[in-house]
Amino acid sequence: MNIILLGPPGAGKGTQAAKLVASRNMIQLSTGDMLREARTSGTEMGQKVAAIMDAGELVTDEIVIGLIREKLEGNAGGGFIFDGFPRTLAQADALEKLLNDMGQSLTAAIELQVNDEVLVGRIVNRAKEAAANGQPVRADDNKESLKVRLMEYYKKTSPLLGYYYAKGQLRTVDGLAEINEVESAIARVLDNS
Ligand code: AMP
Repeated sequence: MNIILLGPPGAGKGTQAAKLVASRNMIQLSTGDMLREARTSGTEMGQKVAAIMDAGELVTDEIVIGLIREKLEGNAGGGFIFDGFPRTLAQADALEKLLNDMGQSLTAAIELQVNDEVLVGRIVNRAKEAAANGQPVRADDNKESLKVRLMEYYKKTSPLLGYYYAKGQLRTVDGLAEINEVESAIARVLDNS
């Protein structure tokens, strides 16, 4: 099974992806994590995207598609959770082609549906909690960047909801429910697919 977790920043994609990794042995492919890793390790690409990420803008399709392609090549068996990818229609088309080329397909695109007010609160909280626990605060978890991230989501990523709906692959769960309830709702989608 290969699924996409779709939703704006703060919807809980990373949290739910981690749960699926633990419970179903799936492989989480988070382009955000890959890009942060590239920054930390100081690669040329990492340096190039740092300012774009901090501003909350999307990095180029070419870069993220390249990152995903590399990871897919090393895991022919599938079982992927795409977390934070695709974020544009071009990325969605590229993903379909990459999966087809390896004899895989997409099982479902699962939308974590949330409410914008709650979302902003969650992200501000994520930053506060990290700071209080002495953990690093994501450079893009601040109000300015958040506004840009939300705008990028609505302008470039939300059309994917219609795209996957039209393909008959969209499933929606309530992302505002308790974490365990969201997990059960996702499990039901997977078990019925
Ligand atoms: P995330 O951890 O998924 O919120 O991603 C953090 C940042 O990485 C985003 O705000 C973008 O700057 C960049 N990013 C992550 N995934 C993508 C993607 N699929 N396309 C473009 N930019 C991305």
